[in-house]
Amino acid sequence: MLHTLHVSTRSRAELVDITAQVQDMVRSSEVSEGICLVYVPHTTAGVTINEGADPDVRRDILEQLERLVPKDGRYHHLEGNADAHIKASLLGSSVLVPISDGRLSLGTWQAIFLAEFDGPRSRKVLVQVMGG
Ligand code: ZN
Repeated sequence: MLHTLHVSTRSRAELVDITAQVQDMVRSSEVSEGICLVYVPHTTAGVTINEGADPDVRRDILEQLERLVPKDGRYHHLEGNADAHIKASLLGSSVLVPISDGRLSLGTWQAIFLAEFDGPRSRKVLVQVMGG
């Protein structure tokens, strides 16, 4: 079952918590044991799992990525979003989460984030639930 989640991002760089929406898709799929693929079909956005409780963790991740790959660095790609492509590749375009008892097996502090690096934009997240 392939579901599409539409996310409107609000800033150029942002980590959007999509855990609840992904969990809803797992629930509606009625898969009890399996895996959930969360995939972002974009080149300047990614997906990552990290702490959802303290928003400062999100801030630190974004600030350190900006320090590593500054927007105004020297790049060959001339669209003005070379940093966003690199940041998206650093985080990756998919995550896999085990499903147990019909729920995502995330750790207590873990959340799934769409990572926007060239917003604000409308983004798609594809969620494929596999199992039985
Ligand atoms: Zn580009």
